[in-house]
Amino acid sequence: ATPLNRALGLIREVTDFPEPGVLFRDLTPLLADGAAFRAVIDALAAAVPPDVDAVVALEARGFLFGAALAASHGLGVVPIRKPGKLPAVADQVTFDLEYGSATFELPADTLHPGRRVLVVDDVLATGGTLAAAAGLVRRAGAEVAGAVVVLELAALGGRARAGVPVEALAVL
Ligand code: IMP
Repeated sequence: ATPLNRALGLIREVTDFPEPGVLFRDLTPLLADGAAFRAVIDALAAAVPPDVDAVVALEARGFLFGAALAASHGLGVVPIRKPGKLPAVADQVTFDLEYGSATFELPADTLHPGRRVLVVDDVLATGGTLAAAAGLVRRAGAEVAGAVVVLELAALGGRARAGVPVEALAVL
């Protein structure tokens, strides 16, 4: 197996999390393995579109991949956060999840018109999360070059809903 395939093989399936009937993909074994984490960051780095000047990383697991990817490219990283965490908020959006809803906030003084960003998260499911993040970026006047995720759960149709070009290292 290539280092990337070995890394992706470390993703663990957990039944009935966070609710009965849900099959959760747990990336923590991949993150905990140095060679695997490096292989994944290298593969994400190869998928960065041209002329990107910042990474937008989504709370919370997106922070791990987004920050490492940004540092490997010498790019800044903008954390999009859940409510109540940021001391200065530029904008917020509330969106539907598979179960319930969520709110994201964009930190003040991070994205400006003319910036071209890459959105990073761990998993693409229904696409609502990526669509919400892309909306915040655009409302700040910045451009979304695309999104990268480690894992796409294709049966949920998230790629269409996301509304941005998505690169996934693995598709299930
Ligand atoms: P979506 O909005 O339905 O596409 O859900 C994507 C968001 O939910 C991402 O921020 C993921 O971190 C999280 N998510 C959904 N399913 C899983 C999973 O099986 N494993 C890890 N995260 C997941």
